[in-house]
Amino acid sequence: MVIKPKIRGFICTNAHPVGCAAHVREQIDYIKQQPQIKEAPQRVLVIGCSTGYGLASRITAAFGAQARTIGVCFEKEPSEKKTATAGWYNTAAFHKEAHDAGLYAYTINGDAFSDEIKEETIARIKEDLGQVDLVIYSLASPKRKDPDTGEVYSSTLKPVGKAYRTKTYDTDKDVVKEIELEPATEEEIADTVKVMGGEDWERWINALAEADVLAKNAKTTAYTYIGKELTWPIYGHATIGKAKEDLDRAAKMIRRDHKDLNVEAYVSSLKALVTQASSAIPVMPLYISLIYRVMKEEGTHEGCIEQTYRLFTEGLYAEQPKWDAAGRLRMDAKETNEETQAKVKELWDQVTQDNFHELADYAGYHADFLKLFGFGIDSVDYDADVDPVVTWEQS
Ligand code: NAD
Repeated sequence: MVIKPKIRGFICTNAHPVGCAAHVREQIDYIKQQPQIKEAPQRVLVIGCSTGYGLASRITAAFGAQARTIGVCFEKEPSEKKTATAGWYNTAAFHKEAHDAGLYAYTINGDAFSDEIKEETIARIKEDLGQVDLVIYSLASPKRKDPDTGEVYSSTLKPVGKAYRTKTYDTDKDVVKEIELEPATEEEIADTVKVMGGEDWERWINALAEADVLAKNAKTTAYTYIGKELTWPIYGHATIGKAKEDLDRAAKMIRRDHKDLNVEAYVSSLKALVTQASSAIPVMPLYISLIYRVMKEEGTHEGCIEQTYRLFTEGLYAEQPKWDAAGRLRMDAKETNEETQAKVKELWDQVTQDNFHELADYAGYHADFLKLFGFGIDSVDYDADVDPVVTWEQS
C-alpha cells in the first residue's frame, strides 16, 4: 500500500508505519545522546504510552535509564486495507528498538479506564517485574466509561462562567477566524472532570497498591497544562482546566492514602506542543504556532522528548527538584515566563488571516502535526509500497 496523509479536520485518519518508526527512532536517538539518568526507576508503568508525552516518557525511561517498561494504550490495529493508528505503529517501533537494545517491553492495548485492563496490567507486573517504581499517567481521552456504573462520560472543551470570543486557527482549511465559545453547563464541567480529572489515576494507584505491585518509595505523576492568560479562557480556567485541578486533589489523596509505601505523587506541568490531543482544542493550534515562533527565536523550543528528559532529570529524579506553590513539578517555565508570553501576546494581537503565515511558525506546526502520523519525514520514501500490517513482539 502507498500511504499518503488523509487529513480530516484536526486529525489525520491514517498513519505511515515507516514514518512512525523514524519518528520514534529520532526520539530514542535524542535520549541516547543525553547523559544516562541517575537514580532512575528500573520498572516503569506508562499509562497512555503510545503517542505524545506518554511515548516520550516511555522512551526516556527505557533508553535514558535502561528501565523495563510496561505500557498501556488504546490504539487501532491495522488490516490489509486500512492503516493502524499512529500509536500502534509507534508502539511496534518502540518494541523493536527496545528488543534490539535488550530492553524488556510489554504493551497492553485496551481501555485503561476499565477494571479488566487494570487487572491484566497488574498480572503482567507480577509475572514479569514483581513491582513498579514509577507510574506515569498520560492519558488524553474524550470519553470514559465509569467501571462502577457503566455510564459513559464525555469531556467538553468549553469556557467556564461566560462565553468567550477569540481567534482560532482552523488547521484543515488554513484559516484564522473568530469563534464564540458558549460556556459549559455544570453537567459538562462535571463530566469533563470525570473523564480527565484524577479519579482514574487514583484508581490505578489504589489497584496497584492493593495488589502489592507498587514498590516502596514509588513515584507517580500525571500531566497537566497550566499555560497563561492567552490560553486560560479555553484551557486553564475552562472545563479541561477544572479537570486538571482535580489532579491536584488526586495527588494529595494518593500521597495520603499510600503513606505506608511512601508514594510520591506529583502533577507535572508540561509545555504546549502539537499532539493528537492538543490539535483538538480550539485556540491551541494558533497559540502553538505563535509560541513555536517565539521560542524558536529565543532558542528555547523543546519537543515532547526534551520535556520528558528534563522532567526526569530536573524533576522526578533530581536531587533538589523545584515545585511550585501547589506542589507541582513545572517544566513549562520557558513557555510561561512573562517575557516570552509578552512576545506571544504582541503577535496574538496582530495576527489575522492575511499575516498568519508571516507571523506564526505555521511550517513548524504543520511539520510536527504530520510527523505525529509518520508523514513529512525526509528519510522516508512516501511513494514506496509498504505493508500496513505491522505488529510487535512482547518481551
Ligand atoms: P496524546 O493524544 O498524544 O496521547 C494520549 C495517550 O492516551 C495515547 O497513548 C492513547 O493511546 C492513550 N489513551 C487514550 N485513551 C485511552 C484509553 N481509554 N485507554 C488507554 N489508553 C488511552 O496526548 P498528549 O498530548 O501526549 O497528552 C498526554 C497528557 O499530557 C494529557 O494529560 C495532557 O493533558 C498532557 N499535556 C499535554 C500537553 C500538550 O500540549 N499536548 C501539554 C501539557 C500537558
